[in-house]
Amino acid sequence: MSKIQMTTPLVEMDGDEMTRILWSMIKEELLEPFVDLKTEYYDLGLECRNDTNDQITIDSANAARKYGVAVKCATITPNAARMDEYHLKEMWKSPNGTIRAMLDGTVFRAPILVKGIEPCVKNWKKPITIARHAYGDVYKAAELKIPDAGKVELVYTAENGTETRELIHNFTGAGIVQGQHNLNGSIESFARSCFTYALDVKQDLWFATKDTISKKYDHSFKDIFQEIFDAEYKESFGKAGITYFYTLIDDAVARVMKSEGGYIWACKNYDGDVMSDMISSAFGSLAMMTSVLVSPDGCYEYEAAHGTVQRHYYKHLNGEETSTNSVATIFAWSGALRKRGELDANEELASFADKLEEACIKTIEEGKMTKDLALITTNPNPTVLNSREFILAIRKSLEEML
Ligand code: NAP
Ligand code: MG
Repeated sequence: MSKIQMTTPLVEMDGDEMTRILWSMIKEELLEPFVDLKTEYYDLGLECRNDTNDQITIDSANAARKYGVAVKCATITPNAARMDEYHLKEMWKSPNGTIRAMLDGTVFRAPILVKGIEPCVKNWKKPITIARHAYGDVYKAAELKIPDAGKVELVYTAENGTETRELIHNFTGAGIVQGQHNLNGSIESFARSCFTYALDVKQDLWFATKDTISKKYDHSFKDIFQEIFDAEYKESFGKAGITYFYTLIDDAVARVMKSEGGYIWACKNYDGDVMSDMISSAFGSLAMMTSVLVSPDGCYEYEAAHGTVQRHYYKHLNGEETSTNSVATIFAWSGALRKRGELDANEELASFADKLEEACIKTIEEGKMTKDLALITTNPNPTVLNSREFILAIRKSLEEML
């Protein structure tokens, strides 16, 4: 069988620990035998980031911008313990944070559904994708403890010196205050990333805030989304047969629970933080959650939502067997290959990506899975495979399909 050809390279961002081990197994067993894989390789493993003073992360983000599609392995975000472990020159920033800031993108997280791993919410039949705004609000707030009676105001001083004031509260005793902000530019990028992604996956987009209470702050989010939708996306949504739906956040939460899924839920920063953890745990497993960063101008970076699975890596280094789930990392590759295929009108490549995903799902539905899934499956007799055996089982399913 001749290998599928690629015309444009994918930006490949390698990573750390157990996911780095899975990364090379996936390439060796599931990609290279079938695809004449073209990638521009960036090693975002912590050692290389340290050696290059993190320049490699910046270079990889620039490459993602240039080519439009990247696939990323999980990476270590250094903390004090990692400083010693890897003898780091500095506590380098999170690569995801750096790449997200450079691409000005929004992260979309979606669960992978398989029969036998059932969501806790019984009517959820299709994935719910969370899009979380990644700038401002409570995460960049200024706070004060008010010790005793006194007046607290918001003051805006324009560049020409004029002041605008708004009373927050006349305190008669001790209390607390908080000042939040956001930027129209950031909200606009968030909105465009959400509309772009909804068109890409042909799913409805939901957005919700508390605009009835927060008549200026949250209402601006609502207005900016609506203005951009009307001016730039309404027509294409109509053609794609999808809708943009705005409602209040409490109404959205109630509707999500009663829905069957199958849409994108755009969330303000705090709502996204809380709701993405709820959605991922309710759908079953972090190891079955994909993640894609989408920039407002349509660059895509695919990855798994989980980390480097450090505990399994130390077992692996000790020569012990591991049963680490590679599905989210495989789906990062299939997502990137499908997008590359679509952009290059390479149907063979896009269809290979579909089959690779089907092979993963089929393997699990046949009862062959890693330990994390065996613990939660409704299948009474699962076969627990180690990390390599699981990938080989997927290869077998894939070969039967091709
Ligand atoms: P983690 O790597 O997501 O793993 C936490 C635990 O979840 C694991 O110990 C394992 O549980 C389970 N798990 C996660 N993924 C799994 C998989 N594919 N298969 C089976 N089990 C899985 O989170 P962490 O241990 O908190 O973080 C480790 C490193 O990852 C940190 O250095 C952190 O900075 C980094 N991180 C990177 C990213 C990213 O690059 N996107 C995201 C998050 C964290 P058991 O041990 O019980 O089996
Ligand atoms: Mg959180």
